[in-house]
Amino acid sequence: MRVGVLALQGDFREHAGLLTRMGHTPVLIRRTEELDGIDALVIPGGESTTIGKLADRYGLLEPLRAVIGNGLPTLGTCAGLIFLAAGTTGPTQVQLGVLDVVVERNAFGRQVDSFESELDVAGFAEPLHAVFIRAPIVEKVGGDVEVLAAVDGDPVMVRQGHIVATSFHPELLGETRVHELMLGS
Ligand code: GLN
Repeated sequence: MRVGVLALQGDFREHAGLLTRMGHTPVLIRRTEELDGIDALVIPGGESTTIGKLADRYGLLEPLRAVIGNGLPTLGTCAGLIFLAAGTTGPTQVQLGVLDVVVERNAFGRQVDSFESELDVAGFAEPLHAVFIRAPIVEKVGGDVEVLAAVDGDPVMVRQGHIVATSFHPELLGETRVHELMLGS
């Protein structure tokens, strides 16, 4: 499959590398025309305020809302989750608002801002080794949103139909099941 990877900022190269190893063709997305002909989309981790500002500057906000709104299978990891969401508990920032959740950014506190954890994910036979880096948690979920994994009761992986989003970084450890889940949706 041709899988778009939003390549404005953040760890898009890691996603592209993983997708290549999975046998897919990553397509780096920086301009609207590059969205044509992709079968799925990944929004990487990084800094969500920067991704939002750059997407706005490059005129990508409405085109992204349109393709995702039309059912394009989409995965957002960490900053990608924040960018997909409808709101945050903090100051207003540019978000797509296509995923009906409100997130709290950097929610695990400064002392433990990066950590790894074995996560049970609904529908996965084996636990997933998850890497969290200044990660958000999902504070509120809309009625159509399924929580697939949580840490201490706080959602860290959600699905709303064709949109899958994680607080953690499956791409960093070669974990392919999250991408497979999204590609099959
Ligand atoms: N803390 C970043 C943000 O708020 C997300 C970090 C990440 O993507 N690893 O956008």
